[in-house]
Amino acid sequence: MSTRRFYITTAIPYVNGDPHLGFALECVQADVLARHRRQRGERVHFLSGTDDNSLKNVEAAEAAGAPIAEFVNAKAERFAALREPLELSYDDFIRTSVDSRHRPGAERLWRACAASGDLYERHYEGLYCTGCEAFLRPSELDAGLCPEHHCEPERIAERNWFFRLSRYEGKLLELIESGRLRIEPDQRRNEVLGFIRGGLEDFSVSRSRERARGWGIPVPEDPSQVVYVWFDALANYVSALDYGTGGERYREWWERSDERVHAIGKGIIRFHAVYWPAILLSAGAPLPTAIFVHDYLTVDGQKLSKSTGRTADPIEIAERHGIDALRWWCLRDVPRTGDADFREELLAARANELADGLGNLVNRTITLLGRFRPQGVGTTKPLSGEAEALHAAIKRTPDEIDNALARFDFRAATRGSAVLACGRRTDRARARGGRSAAWPPSVHQGGHPHLNQLREVGLPHGRLRLHTRSLSPSSPAPRAQCAQQKIISPPSTPCPTMRQPQCPQAGASAWMAHSKESKVPLPSPDTLISIALS
Ligand SMILES: [Zn+2]
Repeated sequence: MSTRRFYITTAIPYVNGDPHLGFALECVQADVLARHRRQRGERVHFLSGTDDNSLKNVEAAEAAGAPIAEFVNAKAERFAALREPLELSYDDFIRTSVDSRHRPGAERLWRACAASGDLYERHYEGLYCTGCEAFLRPSELDAGLCPEHHCEPERIAERNWFFRLSRYEGKLLELIESGRLRIEPDQRRNEVLGFIRGGLEDFSVSRSRERARGWGIPVPEDPSQVVYVWFDALANYVSALDYGTGGERYREWWERSDERVHAIGKGIIRFHAVYWPAILLSAGAPLPTAIFVHDYLTVDGQKLSKSTGRTADPIEIAERHGIDALRWWCLRDVPRTGDADFREELLAARANELADGLGNLVNRTITLLGRFRPQGVGTTKPLSGEAEALHAAIKRTPDEIDNALARFDFRAATRGSAVLACGRRTDRARARGGRSAAWPPSVHQGGHPHLNQLREVGLPHGRLRLHTRSLSPSSPAPRAQCAQQKIISPPSTPCPTMRQPQCPQAGASAWMAHSKESKVPLPSPDTLISIALS
């Protein structure tokens, strides 16, 4: 086991509405990174949670005519409930209103910034967008409206606590330019650098208790004020590690982690890439090592929004299409930059890629192996040109996935999979001669010329395991379940977690379960390749 420590978080969403597909995307992406690192033997801590203390939540509760705590609890439960249907593997989930670890963490962070001389009081007047939970500069408005929420910000005049952000302008530039604080992708990094170069102004980190309707964390030593929701929310990344009580987990997962990664949406980049690092610098704490920013999802061309109720319920989608299909779509179709439009037919096409491309390939391979090579297939060399190229591609796959995920490039990670390379070959064969051409009857009788030709691909035993392992961070569900149930059944057995007649990974799991338990060695997967090329 590696001694490397990898700490990864999702953002904590406001709970002013039900969770939408955009948050599911972020959870799946973070989950894939966490699973991938665990698989590579690293120690991983994966955190998610909810931001309970925002003014937005208070307003949503008032609009619903519900007591604030009751409303927030009910909505926060909906977010926590994503874990099982989305197959999320987070280790911890924090709620900023009720978790006893959070308030001491936020308070300690406040006091640390105060001790550095970075908090001061002053009267302030500005334009506040509750949607953003931020004051906006007049120059940031679009015809007088918040560009993100298309609403008119409220003019607020009050006495607030301010954080001396201006002091950290040079330091932040240096950290981001040097890559010590990575912001991915580049387009987002440039956006942050542009914002900092435009000049950083101190920002308000409290609001009056009255304006907050008494909801939130009181400012230490000044109960007339409540800690600004972003200062409060950002603290979750360390408060969940017992920062407030100086716990060992903070030292282990924040101070001593090799990587500290935040996965966030583009709308909250300034808070994470400017405010949060400055607060940490002030508090004398290490910074995140990377901030990965995803763009937004639209659904049938419409923006998702918790407040308008257009949420595209991820649980419903997972129930309709299977969680593997949804997770696979999030990785395969969502670009690294630029918004992605979700449509159910796109997801169905990706589900077919899994079921027809990978699932079919693996299932039929197992059938053929059982029929023609029950004693195993030895390695014979030399390889033919095409077989050699495929063999080399398969060998490269784990490194390609490592590199792609180190760049947070999920599309490249899944595209690089040799399993898909096999699938594409099958597609090409289909395109040439129709569906049946890919699986001519002669293959099943053992007489297809390709079968003989491709027996020469002497892949080391267990190579197929490698590929199914490479894929499993993306689609953990059937693999885990099949493995747990020790399914060694014929490949036509439908997987219990998939609605499709052929589960993409039931075959792979059967393979793994069989090769682990069977006394009779399974043949090496060269016939898999023969099917791919036939
Ligand atoms: Zn706004």
